[in-house]
Amino acid sequence: MKTSIEPFKIKMVEHIKQTTREERLEYLKEAHYNVFLIRAENILIDFLTDSGTGAMSDQQWAAIMTGDEAYAGSKSFFHFEETVQQITSFKHIIPTHQGRAAERILFEIVLKNKKGQKIPNNTHFDTTRANIEYHDTEAVDLVIPEGKIPECDHPFKGNMDLGKLEEFLDKNHKHVPLGMITITNNSGGGQPVSMENIKETARLYRKYKIPFFIDCCRFAENAYFIKQREKGYGEKTILEIAREMFSYADGCAMSAKKDGMVNIGGFLAMNDDNLAMHARNLLILTEGFPSYGGLAGRDLDAMAVGLQEVLDENYLRYRVRTAEYMGERLLDAGVSIIRPTGGHAVYIDAAAFYPQIPAHQFPGQALVCELYKNGGIRGVEIGSLMFGKTDKITGDMIPASMELVRLAFPRRVYTQSHFDYAIETIIETFKEREKVRGLKITWEAPFLRHFSVHMVPLE
Ligand SMILES: *Cc1c(COP(=O)(O)O)cnc(C)c1O
Repeated sequence: MKTSIEPFKIKMVEHIKQTTREERLEYLKEAHYNVFLIRAENILIDFLTDSGTGAMSDQQWAAIMTGDEAYAGSKSFFHFEETVQQITSFKHIIPTHQGRAAERILFEIVLKNKKGQKIPNNTHFDTTRANIEYHDTEAVDLVIPEGKIPECDHPFKGNMDLGKLEEFLDKNHKHVPLGMITITNNSGGGQPVSMENIKETARLYRKYKIPFFIDCCRFAENAYFIKQREKGYGEKTILEIAREMFSYADGCAMSAKKDGMVNIGGFLAMNDDNLAMHARNLLILTEGFPSYGGLAGRDLDAMAVGLQEVLDENYLRYRVRTAEYMGERLLDAGVSIIRPTGGHAVYIDAAAFYPQIPAHQFPGQALVCELYKNGGIRGVEIGSLMFGKTDKITGDMIPASMELVRLAFPRRVYTQSHFDYAIETIIETFKEREKVRGLKITWEAPFLRHFSVHMVPLE
Protein backbone atom coordinates (compact mmCIF):
# COMPACT_ATOMS: atom_id res chain seq x y z
CA MET A 1 0.00 0.00 0.00
CA LYS A 2 1.17 3.51 -0.79
CA THR A 3 1.65 5.54 2.37
CA SER A 4 0.24 9.01 2.71
CA ILE A 5 2.63 10.76 5.06
CA GLU A 6 3.06 14.53 4.81
CA PRO A 7 5.19 14.82 1.65
CA PHE A 8 7.23 17.70 3.05
CA LYS A 9 9.43 18.52 6.00
CA ILE A 10 9.36 21.73 7.98
CA LYS A 11 12.12 24.33 7.84
CA MET A 12 10.26 27.33 9.22
CA VAL A 13 7.69 27.21 11.99
CA GLU A 14 4.97 29.53 13.22
CA HIS A 15 4.15 29.52 16.91
CA ILE A 16 0.55 28.77 17.83
CA LYS A 17 -0.77 30.09 21.12
CA GLN A 18 -2.24 27.71 23.70
CA THR A 19 -5.19 29.19 25.56
CA THR A 20 -7.11 27.93 28.58
CA ARG A 21 -10.78 27.02 28.47
CA GLU A 22 -11.54 30.04 30.71
CA GLU A 23 -9.77 32.36 28.27
CA ARG A 24 -11.64 30.88 25.34
CA LEU A 25 -14.99 31.33 27.07
CA GLU A 26 -14.10 35.00 27.50
CA TYR A 27 -12.93 35.42 23.85
CA LEU A 28 -16.10 33.78 22.61
CA LYS A 29 -18.29 36.04 24.72
CA GLU A 30 -16.38 39.13 23.55
CA ALA A 31 -16.92 37.94 19.97
CA HIS A 32 -20.69 37.65 20.53
CA TYR A 33 -20.48 33.90 19.87
CA ASN A 34 -19.40 34.60 16.29
CA VAL A 35 -16.03 33.00 15.51
CA PHE A 36 -15.42 35.40 12.60
CA LEU A 37 -14.98 38.06 15.31
CA ILE A 38 -12.32 36.16 17.31
CA ARG A 39 -8.72 37.28 16.73
CA ALA A 40 -6.87 34.59 14.76
CA GLU A 41 -4.02 34.61 17.31
CA ASN A 42 -6.49 33.13 19.84
CA ILE A 43 -7.29 30.16 17.58
CA LEU A 44 -5.27 26.97 18.01
CA ILE A 45 -6.32 25.07 14.87
CA ASP A 46 -7.94 27.22 12.21
CA PHE A 47 -10.27 25.30 9.89
CA LEU A 48 -12.27 28.38 8.86
CA THR A 49 -11.28 28.08 5.19
CA ASP A 50 -8.77 26.53 2.78
CA SER A 51 -8.67 29.78 0.81
CA GLY A 52 -5.34 31.58 0.85
CA THR A 53 -4.37 29.92 4.13
CA GLY A 54 -1.82 27.41 2.78
CA ALA A 55 1.92 27.25 3.39
CA MET A 56 4.20 28.08 0.48
CA SER A 57 7.21 25.89 -0.28
CA ASP A 58 10.89 26.89 -0.20
CA GLN A 59 10.73 26.89 -4.02
CA GLN A 60 7.86 29.36 -3.97
CA TRP A 61 9.70 31.64 -1.53
CA ALA A 62 12.80 31.39 -3.70
CA ALA A 63 10.73 32.40 -6.74
CA ILE A 64 9.42 35.36 -4.77
CA MET A 65 12.97 36.60 -4.24
CA THR A 66 13.69 36.53 -7.98
CA GLY A 67 10.33 38.00 -9.04
CA ASP A 68 10.54 40.62 -11.78
CA GLU A 69 8.65 43.80 -10.89
CA ALA A 70 8.66 45.38 -14.36
CA TYR A 71 5.35 47.12 -15.00
CA ALA A 72 4.89 45.56 -18.44
CA GLY A 73 6.07 42.23 -19.86
CA SER A 74 7.88 40.99 -16.77
CA LYS A 75 9.75 37.69 -16.72
CA SER A 76 7.43 36.61 -13.90
CA PHE A 77 4.38 37.07 -16.15
CA PHE A 78 5.82 34.84 -18.86
CA HIS A 79 6.73 32.19 -16.30
CA PHE A 80 3.13 32.32 -15.03
CA GLU A 81 1.58 32.38 -18.51
CA GLU A 82 3.63 29.40 -19.74
CA THR A 83 2.71 27.38 -16.66
CA VAL A 84 -1.02 28.04 -16.96
CA GLN A 85 -0.88 27.33 -20.69
CA GLN A 86 0.90 24.06 -20.10
CA ILE A 87 -1.89 22.93 -17.75
CA THR A 88 -4.96 24.41 -19.49
CA SER A 89 -3.87 24.91 -23.14
CA PHE A 90 -5.95 28.10 -23.25
CA LYS A 91 -4.64 30.83 -25.54
CA HIS A 92 -5.23 33.91 -23.37
CA ILE A 93 -4.11 33.93 -19.73
CA ILE A 94 -5.22 36.94 -17.70
CA PRO A 95 -3.96 37.29 -14.11
CA THR A 96 -6.31 38.68 -11.43
CA HIS A 97 -5.87 39.29 -7.71
CA GLN A 98 -8.26 36.47 -6.79
CA GLY A 99 -11.11 34.31 -8.09
CA ARG A 100 -13.96 36.77 -7.76
CA ALA A 101 -12.05 39.39 -9.77
CA ALA A 102 -11.87 36.89 -12.64
CA GLU A 103 -15.60 36.19 -12.19
CA ARG A 104 -16.51 39.86 -12.13
CA ILE A 105 -14.74 40.47 -15.45
CA LEU A 106 -16.09 37.30 -17.05
CA PHE A 107 -19.72 38.06 -16.20
CA GLU A 108 -19.48 41.68 -17.19
CA ILE A 109 -18.20 40.79 -20.67
CA VAL A 110 -20.60 37.92 -21.36
CA LEU A 111 -23.75 39.39 -19.79
CA LYS A 112 -23.34 42.89 -21.31
CA ASN A 113 -26.07 44.38 -19.10
CA LYS A 114 -28.85 42.35 -20.74
CA LYS A 115 -31.51 41.34 -18.23
CA GLY A 116 -33.32 38.02 -17.73
CA GLN A 117 -30.43 35.71 -18.64
CA LYS A 118 -29.49 32.43 -16.96
CA ILE A 119 -26.18 30.67 -16.23
CA PRO A 120 -26.26 26.96 -15.34
CA ASN A 121 -23.63 25.20 -13.19
CA ASN A 122 -23.50 22.06 -11.05
CA THR A 123 -23.54 24.38 -8.00
CA HIS A 124 -22.55 28.03 -8.15
CA PHE A 125 -20.14 29.06 -5.40
CA ASP A 126 -21.37 32.07 -3.32
CA THR A 127 -19.16 34.69 -5.01
CA THR A 128 -19.99 33.29 -8.46
CA ARG A 129 -23.70 33.42 -7.69
CA ALA A 130 -23.41 36.94 -6.25
CA ASN A 131 -21.50 38.21 -9.30
CA ILE A 132 -24.14 36.72 -11.63
CA GLU A 133 -27.12 38.00 -9.65
CA TYR A 134 -25.52 41.45 -9.59
CA HIS A 135 -26.28 41.55 -13.33
CA ASP A 136 -29.95 40.58 -12.80
CA THR A 137 -29.14 37.15 -14.16
CA GLU A 138 -30.28 33.83 -12.69
CA ALA A 139 -27.62 31.42 -11.33
CA VAL A 140 -29.09 27.94 -11.87
CA ASP A 141 -27.81 24.88 -9.91
CA LEU A 142 -28.24 21.49 -11.64
CA VAL A 143 -26.16 19.03 -9.59
CA ILE A 144 -27.26 15.36 -9.56
CA PRO A 145 -29.80 14.52 -6.79
CA GLU A 146 -27.20 12.38 -4.93
CA GLY A 147 -25.13 15.56 -4.51
CA LYS A 148 -27.71 16.94 -2.11
CA ILE A 149 -28.04 13.91 0.17
CA PRO A 150 -25.33 13.95 2.91
CA GLU A 151 -25.28 10.22 3.65
CA CYS A 152 -25.50 9.10 0.02
CA ASP A 153 -22.22 7.52 -1.12
CA HIS A 154 -21.40 8.29 -4.78
CA PRO A 155 -17.92 8.58 -6.35
CA PHE A 156 -18.75 11.80 -8.22
CA LYS A 157 -21.33 13.66 -6.18
CA GLY A 158 -20.38 16.91 -7.92
CA ASN A 159 -21.65 15.70 -11.32
CA MET A 160 -24.00 17.80 -13.40
CA ASP A 161 -27.48 16.31 -13.84
CA LEU A 162 -27.21 15.88 -17.61
CA GLY A 163 -30.91 15.14 -18.11
CA LYS A 164 -31.90 18.30 -16.29
CA LEU A 165 -29.24 20.32 -18.11
CA GLU A 166 -30.50 19.16 -21.51
CA GLU A 167 -34.08 19.95 -20.58
CA PHE A 168 -33.00 23.34 -19.23
CA LEU A 169 -30.99 24.22 -22.35
CA ASP A 170 -33.77 23.01 -24.64
CA LYS A 171 -36.11 25.50 -23.05
CA ASN A 172 -33.76 28.39 -22.22
CA HIS A 173 -30.76 28.26 -24.56
CA LYS A 174 -31.55 31.64 -26.14
CA HIS A 175 -31.07 33.24 -22.73
CA VAL A 176 -27.92 31.36 -21.75
CA PRO A 177 -24.79 33.32 -22.72
CA LEU A 178 -22.43 31.04 -20.76
CA GLY A 179 -22.43 27.53 -19.26
CA MET A 180 -20.30 26.48 -16.31
CA ILE A 181 -19.17 23.58 -14.14
CA THR A 182 -17.33 23.83 -10.81
CA ILE A 183 -14.52 21.37 -10.00
CA THR A 184 -14.56 20.23 -7.30
CA ASN A 185 -18.08 21.28 -6.32
CA ASN A 186 -17.18 23.51 -3.36
CA SER A 187 -20.70 24.34 -2.15
CA GLY A 188 -21.67 20.66 -2.42
CA GLY A 189 -18.92 19.52 -0.04
CA GLY A 190 -15.83 19.59 -2.29
CA GLN A 191 -17.22 16.68 -4.29
CA PRO A 192 -15.57 15.78 -7.62
CA VAL A 193 -16.97 15.74 -11.16
CA SER A 194 -16.07 12.81 -13.43
CA MET A 195 -14.29 13.24 -16.77
CA GLU A 196 -17.24 11.61 -18.50
CA ASN A 197 -19.56 14.20 -16.93
CA ILE A 198 -17.32 17.15 -17.90
CA LYS A 199 -17.21 15.81 -21.45
CA GLU A 200 -20.98 15.34 -21.69
CA THR A 201 -21.66 18.74 -20.13
CA ALA A 202 -19.37 20.27 -22.77
CA ARG A 203 -21.20 18.37 -25.52
CA LEU A 204 -24.56 19.78 -24.40
CA TYR A 205 -23.26 23.35 -24.22
CA ARG A 206 -21.65 22.97 -27.63
CA LYS A 207 -24.87 21.62 -29.13
CA TYR A 208 -26.45 25.00 -28.34
CA LYS A 209 -23.27 26.98 -29.18
CA ILE A 210 -22.92 28.18 -25.59
CA PRO A 211 -19.37 28.96 -24.41
CA PHE A 212 -18.29 26.62 -21.59
CA PHE A 213 -16.16 27.88 -18.68
CA ILE A 214 -14.82 25.79 -15.80
CA ASP A 215 -14.68 27.24 -12.28
CA CYS A 216 -11.43 25.37 -11.66
CA CYS A 217 -10.30 26.44 -8.15
CA ARG A 218 -9.68 22.81 -7.10
CA PHE A 219 -8.83 21.30 -10.49
CA ALA A 220 -5.92 19.23 -9.13
CA GLU A 221 -7.98 17.68 -6.34
CA ASN A 222 -10.65 16.89 -8.95
CA ALA A 223 -8.04 15.30 -11.23
CA TYR A 224 -6.79 13.15 -8.36
CA PHE A 225 -10.31 11.86 -7.67
CA ILE A 226 -10.68 11.01 -11.37
CA LYS A 227 -7.41 9.10 -11.24
CA GLN A 228 -8.59 7.18 -8.17
CA ARG A 229 -12.19 6.53 -9.14
CA GLU A 230 -12.78 6.66 -12.91
CA LYS A 231 -12.07 3.77 -15.22
CA GLY A 232 -9.22 4.36 -17.66
CA TYR A 233 -7.42 7.07 -15.67
CA GLY A 234 -5.47 5.03 -13.08
CA GLU A 235 -2.25 5.12 -15.10
CA LYS A 236 -2.44 8.74 -16.24
CA THR A 237 -0.57 11.61 -14.57
CA ILE A 238 -2.43 14.43 -12.83
CA LEU A 239 -1.19 16.81 -15.54
CA GLU A 240 -2.56 14.58 -18.31
CA ILE A 241 -5.93 14.37 -16.56
CA ALA A 242 -6.02 18.13 -15.95
CA ARG A 243 -5.18 18.81 -19.59
CA GLU A 244 -8.00 16.56 -20.72
CA MET A 245 -10.51 18.26 -18.37
CA PHE A 246 -9.61 21.70 -19.73
CA SER A 247 -9.62 20.46 -23.34
CA TYR A 248 -13.43 20.25 -23.27
CA ALA A 249 -13.88 23.89 -22.21
CA ASP A 250 -13.55 27.32 -23.83
CA GLY A 251 -12.08 28.93 -20.74
CA CYS A 252 -11.79 28.91 -16.97
CA ALA A 253 -11.86 31.10 -13.87
CA MET A 254 -9.46 30.30 -11.06
CA SER A 255 -8.85 31.32 -7.47
CA ALA A 256 -5.20 30.41 -6.96
CA LYS A 257 -5.80 30.74 -3.21
CA LYS A 258 -6.99 27.14 -3.50
CA ASP A 259 -5.05 24.79 -5.81
CA GLY A 260 -2.66 27.58 -6.84
CA MET A 261 -1.06 27.08 -3.38
CA VAL A 262 -0.64 30.83 -2.83
CA ASN A 263 -2.02 33.31 -0.32
CA ILE A 264 -3.36 35.62 -3.03
CA GLY A 265 -3.87 35.30 -6.80
CA GLY A 266 -6.13 34.04 -9.55
CA PHE A 267 -6.69 34.13 -13.29
CA LEU A 268 -9.13 34.08 -16.14
CA ALA A 269 -8.22 32.04 -19.23
CA MET A 270 -9.93 31.59 -22.60
CA ASN A 271 -9.48 30.85 -26.27
CA ASP A 272 -11.72 33.51 -27.85
CA ASP A 273 -9.68 36.51 -29.07
CA ASN A 274 -12.52 39.01 -28.98
CA LEU A 275 -13.67 38.04 -25.49
CA ALA A 276 -10.07 38.20 -24.26
CA MET A 277 -9.69 41.70 -25.67
CA HIS A 278 -12.76 42.86 -23.74
CA ALA A 279 -11.54 41.11 -20.60
CA ARG A 280 -8.14 42.84 -20.81
CA ASN A 281 -9.80 46.22 -21.31
CA LEU A 282 -11.78 45.76 -18.11
CA LEU A 283 -8.73 44.40 -16.33
CA ILE A 284 -6.82 47.59 -17.05
CA LEU A 285 -9.71 49.61 -15.67
CA THR A 286 -9.85 47.91 -12.27
CA GLU A 287 -7.04 45.37 -11.71
CA GLY A 288 -4.03 46.60 -13.62
CA PHE A 289 -1.99 46.09 -16.77
CA PRO A 290 -2.59 42.65 -18.40
CA SER A 291 0.85 41.36 -17.47
CA TYR A 292 0.28 41.73 -13.72
CA GLY A 293 -3.49 42.04 -13.11
CA GLY A 294 -3.47 43.44 -9.58
CA LEU A 295 -0.57 41.30 -8.37
CA ALA A 296 3.13 41.89 -7.81
CA GLY A 297 5.49 40.17 -10.24
CA ARG A 298 6.70 37.95 -7.39
CA ASP A 299 3.10 36.80 -6.76
CA LEU A 300 2.91 35.56 -10.35
CA ASP A 301 6.10 33.55 -9.84
CA ALA A 302 4.80 32.03 -6.60
CA MET A 303 1.61 31.06 -8.41
CA ALA A 304 3.54 29.50 -11.30
CA VAL A 305 5.55 27.34 -8.89
CA GLY A 306 2.43 26.49 -6.81
CA LEU A 307 0.55 25.35 -9.91
CA GLN A 308 3.39 22.93 -10.68
CA GLU A 309 3.61 21.64 -7.11
CA VAL A 310 -0.11 20.95 -6.81
CA LEU A 311 0.20 18.39 -9.63
CA ASP A 312 2.35 16.17 -7.37
CA GLU A 313 0.47 12.98 -6.71
CA ASN A 314 2.10 12.40 -3.32
CA TYR A 315 0.84 15.79 -2.22
CA LEU A 316 -2.68 15.09 -3.49
CA ARG A 317 -2.73 11.66 -1.85
CA TYR A 318 -1.80 13.23 1.50
CA ARG A 319 -4.37 15.97 0.95
CA VAL A 320 -7.33 13.73 0.11
CA ARG A 321 -6.28 11.07 2.63
CA THR A 322 -6.30 13.66 5.43
CA ALA A 323 -10.02 14.38 4.93
CA GLU A 324 -10.75 10.68 4.50
CA TYR A 325 -8.90 9.81 7.72
CA MET A 326 -10.76 12.40 9.76
CA GLY A 327 -14.04 11.23 8.19
CA GLU A 328 -13.40 7.57 9.02
CA ARG A 329 -12.57 8.29 12.65
CA LEU A 330 -15.60 10.52 13.12
CA LEU A 331 -17.93 7.96 11.55
CA ASP A 332 -16.47 5.24 13.81
CA ALA A 333 -17.33 7.42 16.80
CA GLY A 334 -20.91 7.86 15.58
CA VAL A 335 -20.59 11.42 14.28
CA SER A 336 -22.59 12.01 11.05
CA ILE A 337 -20.72 13.68 8.21
CA ILE A 338 -21.22 14.27 4.48
CA ARG A 339 -20.08 11.11 2.74
CA PRO A 340 -17.76 10.42 1.06
CA THR A 341 -15.38 13.17 2.25
CA GLY A 342 -14.36 15.57 -0.52
CA GLY A 343 -11.02 17.18 -1.27
CA HIS A 344 -10.64 20.14 1.04
CA ALA A 345 -12.91 19.74 4.06
CA VAL A 346 -14.99 17.57 6.35
CA TYR A 347 -18.62 18.59 6.86
CA ILE A 348 -20.29 17.56 10.12
CA ASP A 349 -24.08 17.14 10.13
CA ALA A 350 -24.95 19.38 13.10
CA ALA A 351 -28.68 18.59 12.96
CA ALA A 352 -27.80 14.93 13.69
CA PHE A 353 -25.14 15.96 16.25
CA TYR A 354 -27.63 18.06 18.29
CA PRO A 355 -31.11 16.68 17.54
CA GLN A 356 -32.44 18.61 20.57
CA ILE A 357 -31.61 21.98 18.94
CA PRO A 358 -34.16 23.15 16.33
CA ALA A 359 -32.97 24.94 13.17
CA HIS A 360 -34.06 28.37 14.43
CA GLN A 361 -31.71 27.93 17.40
CA PHE A 362 -28.76 27.18 15.06
CA PRO A 363 -27.36 23.72 15.90
CA GLY A 364 -24.41 24.35 13.55
CA GLN A 365 -23.40 27.52 15.35
CA ALA A 366 -23.77 25.74 18.71
CA LEU A 367 -21.28 23.13 17.48
CA VAL A 368 -18.90 25.79 16.14
CA CYS A 369 -18.91 27.44 19.59
CA GLU A 370 -18.40 24.13 21.45
CA LEU A 371 -15.41 23.18 19.25
CA TYR A 372 -13.81 26.52 20.02
CA LYS A 373 -14.52 26.28 23.76
CA ASN A 374 -13.34 22.67 24.02
CA GLY A 375 -10.26 22.82 21.81
CA GLY A 376 -9.60 26.25 20.29
CA ILE A 377 -10.72 24.90 16.91
CA ARG A 378 -12.41 27.24 14.45
CA GLY A 379 -14.86 25.85 11.90
CA VAL A 380 -17.71 27.56 10.09
CA GLU A 381 -21.48 27.11 10.22
CA ILE A 382 -23.05 26.35 6.85
CA GLY A 383 -26.69 26.15 7.76
CA SER A 384 -29.54 28.38 8.80
CA LEU A 385 -27.28 31.12 10.17
CA MET A 386 -25.64 31.45 6.75
CA PHE A 387 -28.57 30.59 4.47
CA GLY A 388 -31.78 30.90 6.55
CA LYS A 389 -34.33 33.25 5.02
CA THR A 390 -37.15 35.20 6.65
CA ASP A 391 -40.75 34.45 5.70
CA LYS A 392 -42.08 37.85 4.58
CA ILE A 393 -45.57 37.14 5.89
CA THR A 394 -45.07 35.37 9.23
CA GLY A 395 -41.58 36.76 10.00
CA ASP A 396 -40.45 33.23 10.90
CA MET A 397 -37.14 31.85 9.69
CA ILE A 398 -37.21 29.46 6.74
CA PRO A 399 -34.33 27.10 7.62
CA ALA A 400 -31.53 26.07 5.25
CA SER A 401 -31.80 22.60 3.70
CA MET A 402 -28.94 21.30 5.89
CA GLU A 403 -27.32 22.29 9.18
CA LEU A 404 -23.61 21.72 8.61
CA VAL A 405 -20.30 22.66 10.18
CA ARG A 406 -17.42 22.81 7.71
CA LEU A 407 -13.88 22.13 8.80
CA ALA A 408 -11.78 23.28 5.83
CA PHE A 409 -8.11 22.38 5.69
CA PRO A 410 -5.33 24.85 4.86
CA ARG A 411 -2.84 23.26 2.44
CA ARG A 412 0.42 21.86 3.92
CA VAL A 413 -0.16 23.63 7.26
CA TYR A 414 -1.21 21.03 9.84
CA THR A 415 0.35 17.66 10.65
CA GLN A 416 -1.36 14.40 11.50
CA SER A 417 -1.09 15.13 15.22
CA HIS A 418 -2.99 18.39 14.71
CA PHE A 419 -5.69 16.37 12.98
CA ASP A 420 -5.69 13.73 15.75
CA TYR A 421 -6.13 16.50 18.29
CA ALA A 422 -9.04 17.96 16.29
CA ILE A 423 -10.66 14.53 15.95
CA GLU A 424 -10.37 13.90 19.71
CA THR A 425 -11.89 17.31 20.45
CA ILE A 426 -14.86 16.58 18.17
CA ILE A 427 -15.39 13.15 19.75
CA GLU A 428 -15.23 14.62 23.29
CA THR A 429 -17.71 17.27 22.22
CA PHE A 430 -19.97 14.55 20.83
CA LYS A 431 -19.92 12.68 24.14
CA GLU A 432 -21.25 15.78 25.88
CA ARG A 433 -23.83 16.56 23.24
CA GLU A 434 -26.91 16.25 25.42
CA LYS A 435 -26.13 19.25 27.60
CA VAL A 436 -25.73 21.71 24.76
CA ARG A 437 -28.37 24.35 23.91
CA GLY A 438 -28.80 26.61 20.89
CA LEU A 439 -28.31 30.35 20.42
CA LYS A 440 -30.35 33.36 19.49
CA ILE A 441 -29.48 36.37 17.37
CA THR A 442 -29.24 39.76 19.13
CA TRP A 443 -28.07 41.79 16.12
CA GLU A 444 -27.76 41.05 12.40
CA ALA A 445 -26.79 42.85 9.18
CA PRO A 446 -29.31 43.01 6.29
CA PHE A 447 -27.30 40.53 4.16
CA LEU A 448 -24.44 38.02 4.61
CA ARG A 449 -25.32 38.16 8.31
CA HIS A 450 -23.09 35.27 9.40
CA PHE A 451 -19.93 37.39 9.04
CA SER A 452 -20.96 40.02 11.58
CA VAL A 453 -23.89 38.58 13.55
CA HIS A 454 -24.09 38.92 17.34
CA MET A 455 -25.59 36.01 19.28
CA VAL A 456 -26.16 34.81 22.86
CA PRO A 457 -26.53 31.24 24.11
CA LEU A 458 -30.00 30.19 25.28
CA GLU A 459 -30.30 29.27 28.95
C1 LIG B 1 -12.98 30.48 -3.60
C2 LIG B 1 -13.83 30.23 -4.76
C3 LIG B 1 -14.17 31.26 -5.64
C4 LIG B 1 -13.80 32.71 -5.41
O1 LIG B 1 -12.44 32.92 -5.28
P1 LIG B 1 -11.80 34.05 -4.31
O2 LIG B 1 -10.35 33.90 -4.54
O3 LIG B 1 -12.24 33.76 -2.91
O4 LIG B 1 -12.32 35.37 -4.79
C5 LIG B 1 -14.93 30.93 -6.75
N1 LIG B 1 -15.35 29.67 -6.97
C6 LIG B 1 -15.05 28.66 -6.14
C7 LIG B 1 -15.52 27.27 -6.44
C8 LIG B 1 -14.27 28.90 -5.00
O5 LIG B 1 -13.98 27.89 -4.17
